[in-house]
Amino acid sequence: MYLADDHFRKAGVRDRSQVIFATPQKAIFSVDKYRRTLEKVVQRKGIEPMFRHNLIELRPDAKEAVFENVDTHEHVTVAYDMVHVTPPMGPPDVVSKSGLANEGGWVEVDKHSLQSGRFPNVFAIGDCAGLPTSKTGAAIRKQAPVLVEHLLAAMRGTTATASYNGYSSCPVVTGYGKMMLAEFDYNQQPAESFPFDQSKERYSMWLLKTQLLPRLYWYGMLRGRL
Ligand SMILES: Cc1cc2nc3c(=O)[nH]c(=O)nc-3n(C[C@H](O)[C@H](O)[C@H](O)COP(=O)(O)OP(=O)(O)OC[C@H]3O[C@@H](n4cnc5c(N)ncnc54)[C@H](O)[C@@H]3O)c2cc1C
Repeated sequence: MYLADDHFRKAGVRDRSQVIFATPQKAIFSVDKYRRTLEKVVQRKGIEPMFRHNLIELRPDAKEAVFENVDTHEHVTVAYDMVHVTPPMGPPDVVSKSGLANEGGWVEVDKHSLQSGRFPNVFAIGDCAGLPTSKTGAAIRKQAPVLVEHLLAAMRGTTATASYNGYSSCPVVTGYGKMMLAEFDYNQQPAESFPFDQSKERYSMWLLKTQLLPRLYWYGMLRGRL
């Protein structure tokens, strides 16, 4: 959305475009520190937020999107030229019907030890794990060492103390050459990696996202080095 807004400006059509951000959530971000920045970004860019609105129908022939107000259940129809939809996230059947799942269908594990309470030889990390934090690769990077320690302890018949604190991260690109690196824990408190205010949009963070993180992902994380 932020890049589209930027692109419309570069192409000279932003004044003839309307950008709407619709979400069932009640705010643009769940962590207050980053929410405040993104609220300013949205205001600066003239993006129109529609909070507490859930997409329930697309009418491609008429180019209309129908939203339901989550609180009042009132339906709102919005005309569009281009719509970008993020589908609701859910577990695959192989997980939700496995007998390992919690009510939401994700693998039920302790949120700190990542070990199943019902089956002590079962552990889970990543998107399939029923952990109350944002599902990201960055979160997995912090979960993996905790999992390894507990797994080895279980195999040796000992106990481990490693604890996952819910760390997750969202690199939010707010335009070409601008990024805000949100990092937070289970308590929705910032858990930042750099010694500066990460709630600011920065060119350096854009470089991190476009130049450094791809290398970190491919050569570090996926090979188990970082
Ligand atoms: C658009 C988008 C942008 C993102 N951006 C970021 C980002 O900037 N930073 C970040 O940290 N994270 C980001 N994420 C999140 C990150 O990609 C995921 O959290 C991460 O890939 C999850 O890894 P995983 O191994 O747990 O699950 P997955 O990567 O989903 O792997 C699960 C695998 O299991 C396979 N599978 C499914 N069913 C079966 C079956 N029955 N038998 C065998 N195999 C099966 C699937 O094919 C898949 O390969 C983003 C996600 C999306 C969608």
